[in-house]
Amino acid sequence: MELYDIAIIGGGIAGYTAALTAKNLGLGYLWLAPEAFGEKTRAAEYVRNFPSFSGNGVAFCSALETQRGREGVELTRARADGVFAQGGGYLISAGKEMFSARTVVLATGVDLKGGVKGEREFFGRGVSYCAVCDGALYRGKTVAAVLSSPRYEEEAEYLASLAETVHCFCPYGEPHFKAKNIVVHAGMPEAIGGGARVEQIIENGKALSVSGVFLLKDSTPVRALCGGLETDGAHIITKKDGSTNLAGLFAAGDVTGPPYQYAKAAGEGLVAAYSARAYLSALKKH
Ligand SMILES: Cc1cc2nc3c(=O)[nH]c(=O)nc-3n(C[C@H](O)[C@H](O)[C@H](O)COP(=O)(O)OP(=O)(O)OC[C@H]3O[C@@H](n4cnc5c(N)ncnc54)[C@H](O)[C@@H]3O)c2cc1C
Repeated sequence: MELYDIAIIGGGIAGYTAALTAKNLGLGYLWLAPEAFGEKTRAAEYVRNFPSFSGNGVAFCSALETQRGREGVELTRARADGVFAQGGGYLISAGKEMFSARTVVLATGVDLKGGVKGEREFFGRGVSYCAVCDGALYRGKTVAAVLSSPRYEEEAEYLASLAETVHCFCPYGEPHFKAKNIVVHAGMPEAIGGGARVEQIIENGKALSVSGVFLLKDSTPVRALCGGLETDGAHIITKKDGSTNLAGLFAAGDVTGPPYQYAKAAGEGLVAAYSARAYLSALKKH
């Protein structure tokens, strides 16, 4: 397995700037995200507060993509589902793939839409954020999946290939599923319920029996991604240089807290990459 100097997780402005900076600094980098720039960059109605750019989110993405191509910043398309300290560096799992890096920058953004009641309580006890990682645990069972966008329909189909029934909550509109064992629900569920583990998902006051709930959304909660990280609940606590309480692990962008703005995310991405380089240099001296 290749050992990268720096693994950058997250495809938004923070992750992109960290990757661009790492490349310019000559670091061996891995930039890991399902797509470059992503929904939050595309969705902006009109960006007027980012230096040298004015226009809508689609035009912003296109300008970024042009720059990315020119600078040759490579993206590895995958969603990280676990970051684990190992041998002075980090192992990153992304579905069936594993990556290894000396340092990590987490730039995974925040979930502005909020979660489902009970999500935190049942995390690790039937709540999962990755169908590919945990789907097999629910072979032949009934599960629920809450999809934040059509991009997750493929993951829901994968779940359906294993589970007996998948209750899919699709609040974004009309989904297009092929599997016959998917039951579509139009809105968001109210809550996840159960005892020691998930037992129910509640919709309009009615409880459906399920063994697990998959929350398929753009921003993986940091608690689910990396154990032992100091957070204030939703955000990673960082110092000015982007460092966290875990040695060699840095964070940048919305995931470190407000203001939620592109310029702040870009600045923090750059700082995190420089800090990772300083950390690597200090390691070499010892
Ligand atoms: C509608 C809208 C309009 C906005 N307009 C403006 C504006 O005009 N000006 C402004 O300054 N800001 C604006 N913002 C805020 C701005 O979008 C954010 O501050 C900015 O996108 C933060 O960048 P980020 O890289 O930290 O996070 P994000 O842009 O959220 O990027 C995080 C990325 O990480 C990826 N990711 C998450 N989890 C994982 C994982 N486990 N593995 C791999 N990848 C992962 C996600 O897919 C996502 O693409 C707007 C936001 C919205 C929603």
